[in-house]
Amino acid sequence: MAKKKTAAQEPPAKKRVKKQPGTQAYEKRLLQMREDIIHLVRENQDNETENEVGDEADAATKSSERELLFELSDNERQSLDAVEAALRKINTGVYGLCESCRTKIAVARLKAIPHARYCINCQSRFDSPRS
Ligand SMILES: [Zn+2]
Repeated sequence: MAKKKTAAQEPPAKKRVKKQPGTQAYEKRLLQMREDIIHLVRENQDNETENEVGDEADAATKSSERELLFELSDNERQSLDAVEAALRKINTGVYGLCESCRTKIAVARLKAIPHARYCINCQSRFDSPRS
């Protein structure tokens, strides 16, 4: 998958947002993670609404995006937030940068946690109460 980019300079006049190069694999994983979280919740919902009649089911589908957020556990919601934040970062070209100190997050860390928001230093600072 080596894409050769010889003329990489974009004309500054064009404000077309370009996805950050080299993030395709992460994006794919992030999208998959998002799917998984949403799918998980949807399945729970489907089981609950199975007995409803057609019209009500249609209405339920329309509002499900909103309701989805309420169905999420704190943990799932946090993951979803982080995943979506990471996807936004890919679109704005800042993916892989620590949100706190703006240094590059180690590739090994991103491979393990593609939605990591902070570098390992900042994260450990946040994790330990003494800082
Ligand atoms: Zn940092």
